[in-house]
Amino acid sequence: MWSAIVVLSLVGCAVAGPPVTRSRKDIEAFRAYLERSRTDDGLRLESRMLLNPKASAWENSGKFQGDILLTDKQAEVLIQQYAGVGARNAFMWPNTKWPRNTVVYEINNEFTQAQVQAIRASMAEIEEHTCIRFRRKTRFDRNYVLVTGRPDGCYATAGYHETMGMHTMNIGKANPGEGCFINAIIIHEWLHIIGFLHLHSTHDRDDYVHILWENMVEGGDYNYEKFDTDMVNNMEVPYEYASTMHYDRYGFTANGRPTMLPIYNDDGLMGQVDYVTAWDWLRVNRHYNCPWAWETPVYADEISQGRANHAALEKMPQGDVVEDLPQEKVLVADTPQDLEAEKVSVVEEAPKDQ
Ligand SMILES: [Zn+2]
Repeated sequence: MWSAIVVLSLVGCAVAGPPVTRSRKDIEAFRAYLERSRTDDGLRLESRMLLNPKASAWENSGKFQGDILLTDKQAEVLIQQYAGVGARNAFMWPNTKWPRNTVVYEINNEFTQAQVQAIRASMAEIEEHTCIRFRRKTRFDRNYVLVTGRPDGCYATAGYHETMGMHTMNIGKANPGEGCFINAIIIHEWLHIIGFLHLHSTHDRDDYVHILWENMVEGGDYNYEKFDTDMVNNMEVPYEYASTMHYDRYGFTANGRPTMLPIYNDDGLMGQVDYVTAWDWLRVNRHYNCPWAWETPVYADEISQGRANHAALEKMPQGDVVEDLPQEKVLVADTPQDLEAEKVSVVEEAPKDQ
């Protein structure tokens, strides 16, 4: 059994990724990249958007993988993994759930009323679809999220950290509907706060996307590292191109050509920022052990709507790699309907992890 797994992994790496063995120089370069991603380089989001107008605002925000503000510990774990210490694999940091499913927050006093309303609308949507609740910080709260509007992009801390105190969520100020102030992008940043990473870095992503390393800017490949299974978990929800946590085709492109293409038909939905999918909500609900989340069939939404817009359900191989599909977003008629199980109330204590 073990030998079969090892053989498959080695073949997978040889075909799909950069070399697994890294020199000291490579490792130091990765460390330097992570450090840069944790400091403000003074660039405004608009400047970075000019360099790569095809990528989303959150991909262009100058942090790790675009918009993840790593903690010291997370950076160290990533460096160890990069150096080849430990196995490689999926999608969420462990032990970083907000206690009692409640995110404590404060919105910095720098936003217009319309911007505050947009931030509050994103929180209301999360509350509507999950058992996550938001509560304003009081003077008794040590750990909380401060929502700020610096002009360098949209980014957030990944997960809850007991000793962190102030957690960061930055939504660069813009008119609602523009730049970082797109509803699905604000929710994307909240999903980082809640504990999620990007779907394209999950362990089995090479079964679903083809990475075009040759089209990336120098150092861009660091953003396409995969996560170990001991760090992340897909909550038994299949891979999904339309997830609000998925990269688009042009992240970190050096030449305007795609850096990632779907292997199966994605209906042009990969990297979409128009809505949050039913599976995004299901992953949140399962991560927080919300009532019924683990009893809900994964395909409930597709079954009820008689449609299937993701690879795992369609299984339509297009040959080696599909052509560069047009970038216009294909919208479904309505945003996905709620799953029955999402209509839940606050739970006092989440049961233990699966
Ligand atoms: Zn992100």
